[in-house]
Amino acid sequence: MRIYDPAVINQIRNVLRLKRGDQVIILDGQGGMYRCCLDKPAATGVEARIIDEHQAMDDPRVAVTVALPPLRGGRFEWALQKLTELGVARVVPIVSARSVVKPQSRSPGVETSKLTRWQAIMREAAEQCERASIPEVRQTMSLSSFVNSELWAPESAEHVSVACAERREAPLLAHLLRQLSAAEQPLKSMSVLVGPEGGLADQEIELASDSGGLLVSLGGRILRSETAAIYALAQITFTFGDG
Ligand code: SAH
Repeated sequence: MRIYDPAVINQIRNVLRLKRGDQVIILDGQGGMYRCCLDKPAATGVEARIIDEHQAMDDPRVAVTVALPPLRGGRFEWALQKLTELGVARVVPIVSARSVVKPQSRSPGVETSKLTRWQAIMREAAEQCERASIPEVRQTMSLSSFVNSELWAPESAEHVSVACAERREAPLLAHLLRQLSAAEQPLKSMSVLVGPEGGLADQEIELASDSGGLLVSLGGRILRSETAAIYALAQITFTFGDG
């Protein structure tokens, strides 16, 4: 096979400095995983001989969208990596009332380069964990646009959206998942909304629930936003099965 993607060629030639005869594992993003032996890498393309073919790890049975505000200190990027490893289908960066990191509307270039960086983090994490697909990351949007979008309230009985709300005496996510997995109607997708460091504002929680979401608790401990997102996704994947 011949590799044309400039990012992959750059990775092979300049980052990993691979030579003729070196072996690599190549994922095609559609479930195929190939062990290959490289020919001499050139700037215009790399020829690779397929040694054997495997099936990459399938995606979890329930496709999960996680909406999470960009966080300070690289914690959002860390969450992107971990959510990818745990099988997330899509991440939506949201701006909420108490968000600390705001998008720079006056310099759209900064936002575009952030998105490119986020996509690269997810691609690398998907490769590293050998999953079949690369999850999607959306442009940053406001919390209200998110809960009014088809991602939160699609016209589908096979979808459930949950807003993680601490200190509210909401039912545990684990209980809800047990009920959903026992129901006759199979679930295809879920959306999970997690708030920023300062938590979701009361009006935002009302809005999420008025727009069709269920409020859930993740237990008595107050988790950081990235922990809450990862814990919620891990519970969903564990309940409905992986791959
Ligand atoms: N500063 C807030 C906590 C915010 S935690 C306070 O002290 O009350 C950040 C986000 O993580 C919350 O908005 C919520 O979405 C989620 N979260 C953290 N712990 C949670 C829990 N025990 N149950 C449900 N959601 C939780």
